[in-house]
Amino acid sequence: MGNNGSTRGARKPSGKSSGSSSRKKPADGVSRRALLIGGGTVAAAGTAAVLARDELKRLWWQVPGVEKPRKPGELDYPGATWVAASEANWRRADRPDDFPVDRVIIHVTQGSFASAVKVFQDPAHQAATHYIVGQDGRVVQMIRELDVAYQAGNRAYNERAVGIEHEGFVDRPKDLTKAMYASSARLTASICARHGIPVDREHIIGHVEVPGTDHTDPGPHWDWDRYMELVRRAATAPPGPSPTPSAKA
Ligand SMILES: [Zn+2]
Repeated sequence: MGNNGSTRGARKPSGKSSGSSSRKKPADGVSRRALLIGGGTVAAAGTAAVLARDELKRLWWQVPGVEKPRKPGELDYPGATWVAASEANWRRADRPDDFPVDRVIIHVTQGSFASAVKVFQDPAHQAATHYIVGQDGRVVQMIRELDVAYQAGNRAYNERAVGIEHEGFVDRPKDLTKAMYASSARLTASICARHGIPVDREHIIGHVEVPGTDHTDPGPHWDWDRYMELVRRAATAPPGPSPTPSAKA
């Protein structure tokens, strides 16, 4: 989708392969499908025999006793509301044990909050981020941080990053509201704190900065200086929806 610059691709490409950037990795599809068909450790292990070594590494969580416990609707960020993305738009993983998490990737949706949620629920979309932040500051989480979201069009970056979409269009500076910046900065500070990610521009990047991407978001109007300052502030003085429940006293 070349010109719309986001994971979601406001306009769906007609017919042919979509181009959604995160798509060029049949291996993901193969392993996911194998697991679904297998439906269990034994079958998955059988399937694994015919998969490349690379794939074996991704099946290890199927071994009994090593998978992290998951509860439906569980959040990584208490300030978010849970809405599940389609399982076609992410890959089950066990980060940071299988892949270290050391990047936050900033996106702009090229559409409304509701339409972003909708496409992430659409299995045909083949892309999604972990979070979406609205212009009013609301946050939904759609993929667990321990899982790999197909967000960046770059497998290695997908595996190492947590992704945040922001409601708006890259060519409309007014879409990037104060409430959105503030809320997103708290979220990013929380992600950085939980994963030990340095709060700097090497580790907090735009989709446009991912190697090999043809996407341009978050676009020229995203105010990085302002955003990074807000993240730093939130990181040093965790405000409102912080992961620590002991915020009284
Ligand atoms: Zn993007």
